[in-house]
Amino acid sequence: MTTVVFPGKFDPISMGHLDIIKRANQLFDRVVVAVYETPSRPTLFSTDERKDLISATLTGMSGVEVDSFSGLLVDYVHAKGAQAMLRGLRLGSDFEYEFEMALMNRKLAPGIDVVCLITSIEYQFVRSSLLKEVAELGGDISGLAPSNVITALSRRLSTRA
Ligand code: ADP
Repeated sequence: MTTVVFPGKFDPISMGHLDIIKRANQLFDRVVVAVYETPSRPTLFSTDERKDLISATLTGMSGVEVDSFSGLLVDYVHAKGAQAMLRGLRLGSDFEYEFEMALMNRKLAPGIDVVCLITSIEYQFVRSSLLKEVAELGGDISGLAPSNVITALSRRLSTRA
């Protein structure tokens, strides 16, 4: 059985993330979407909220699990019995960052590989931070985030205002 871990902040999940998850689901028996609990900058949604938004988006999709982790990613990947970790690549700076992280992770855990999927062209410019910024300014992000996420975002942003 092949297992891949897809780690990230998912603050919140976007259509770009979802596209990568769906495509990985065709390639691996099991995809574990792993929400990073302690990123360096504060998140808009808590770990549980980020997990719940992902789970609601994935309803009915078999072979995909949602979990969270803290600490070293390679330790978590080992604990899950996964053979690889998954990343999505957009044009530009993603590559340099992922290249460096992949080499460091391979040094820490030589048996675990990194699989990168290239973004679909319609999601090339989609990143969660930009979606939050546009939503906060009242812009339309439909089609770029799942509808449950758009609702959660407008609720969170209106209570913050
Ligand atoms: P971000 O804050 O950059 O949206 P995350 O930490 O949540 O990112 O990202 C988790 C993974 O998902 C990373 O590998 C990131 O490159 C990837 N990803 C994020 N947005 C997209 C997208 N629009 N298309 C493809 N991959 C993406």
